[in-house]
Amino acid sequence: MSQYVAPLAKLIEHFRRLPGIGAKSATRLAYYILTLDPAQAQSLAQAIIDAKEKIRYCSVCFGLTDCDPCSICQAENRDRSTVCVVEEPQDVAAMERTREFRGLYHVLHGALSPLDGVGPEQLRVKELLLRLQSGQIREVIMATNPDVEGEATAMYLAKLLKPLGVKVTRIGHGLPVGGDLEYADEVTLSKAMENRREM
Ligand SMILES: [Zn+2]
Repeated sequence: MSQYVAPLAKLIEHFRRLPGIGAKSATRLAYYILTLDPAQAQSLAQAIIDAKEKIRYCSVCFGLTDCDPCSICQAENRDRSTVCVVEEPQDVAAMERTREFRGLYHVLHGALSPLDGVGPEQLRVKELLLRLQSGQIREVIMATNPDVEGEATAMYLAKLLKPLGVKVTRIGHGLPVGGDLEYADEVTLSKAMENRREM
């Protein structure tokens, strides 16, 4: 039996399922929700529903978007000859925060990890090859995470892409090994981009 009234217990349970939220934080958040006025609570609930309903993957780069193609893929002032390959949609946001990169992106939705059953077919590799067929892309920057899976993915793609006559580069060191691109600060990420080397 829960010591909380049923709707409160349910709210706590939902918060507990969120990443990085323990029992204590979940309870604190649930009590906070109870202090909101009805309009605020409604707006929070609606924001969750809207995010789920309106956000989808861009059919070109597979980043998150509410229009298709996404605003980055559609932007006329971006360099269409350079594509930065990242693992997850949140890596695009991390890269955009640096305000340095003006090319396009390609989101793989993961990294190669044979032990977990993730091969090239599970990633957006085919779609990347398709994009290269336009002949517009001259450089592909591998900005996968600096961990075992990320490095293996970069190597695999480099082998696949180089015979197509495209320049393949890897973002430079300086990113903490084993770290997530997503959590790298802007300066580190800018430096890593600047110090990219041909693979
Ligand atoms: Zn896009």
